[in-house]
Amino acid sequence: AKDMGRNTFQFYQPEMNTSVGARLNLERRLRRALRDGEFLLHYQPQVDIETGQIVGMEALVRWLDPEVGLVPPSAFIPVAEESGLIGPLSEWVLREACRQNKAWQDEGLPPARVSVNLSARQFQQRDIAKLVMAILEETGLEPQYLELELTESTIMRNAEEAVTMLAELHALGIGLAIDDFGTGYSSLSYLKRFPVDRLKIDRSFVSDIGASSDDETITSAIIALAHSLQLQVIAEGVETAAQLDFLKERACNEMQGYFFARPMPHDAIPEMLQQAGA
Ligand code: C2E
Ligand code: CA
Ligand code: CA
Ligand code: CA
Repeated sequence: AKDMGRNTFQFYQPEMNTSVGARLNLERRLRRALRDGEFLLHYQPQVDIETGQIVGMEALVRWLDPEVGLVPPSAFIPVAEESGLIGPLSEWVLREACRQNKAWQDEGLPPARVSVNLSARQFQQRDIAKLVMAILEETGLEPQYLELELTESTIMRNAEEAVTMLAELHALGIGLAIDDFGTGYSSLSYLKRFPVDRLKIDRSFVSDIGASSDDETITSAIIALAHSLQLQVIAEGVETAAQLDFLKERACNEMQGYFFARPMPHDAIPEMLQQAGA
């Protein structure tokens, strides 16, 4: 009877059934990946536009699937979020990024902060500040060298609660950045109440500098907004010298993008830091 039920389902919903099967399969492989240590971090430098020095690097997770090769986060983060695997995965990313950054500092490299992306699910966890504190203690990384990136939509999903959670995180002495800024709908009154340090201008605006006057206007407005609120501002997805010039003219503080460097494996970072370190 069980099999018949399944066949009936398959008969009426063949595509849905396949995608459910594929999802469960991916979930199973992700579980294995966590257990067997198949995740790794790439790092992309964040550069002070004025001085050209590397002041930070964003940790970006990858999955080295033995069957497929390197898998980008867009292919597994959504499933990890839906299946509850995002908790252990994010914890691993946070711990690994802090551990690695501390190891670079212990090697005598110029110190820089490491930025870690926090998923909506993780941010909803009431004890996230406790976890961050525990990992800082465990790895010995000073809080000023850790930054968390939260997307505008994550924060605005429950803005009232976000104010409290951000305050708890900020009290640890770590940095906080609003990622993908401009794509959500932050009200200005909230923005003033969020204890964040940095706005990160979404790539969709930056990439059209030179091509769309609307996007140039939005980029300029975000930079001006950040400065008037005493926030730092970083542009992501900078790919050309023209985009960089535009940002520099408007006193955008930092940039990140292929124009300076792509995300790279951890072992390429020491040389980068030595050449363009703080
Ligand atoms: P994001 O946080 O907006 O990260 C920036 C993405 O833009 C990265 O893609 C990066 O490789 C890419 N990028 C950087 N510079 C350029 C550029 O100049 N041009 C273009 N075209 N792209 C650029 P990636 O590594 O594939 O990550 C995609 C998204 O996956 C991230 O977007 C973030 O939302 C998520 N993600 C990555 N790592 C983690 C993680 O550890 N935890 C969580 N929760 N999400 C993560
Ligand atoms: Ca990010
Ligand atoms: Ca982003
Ligand atoms: Ca655009």
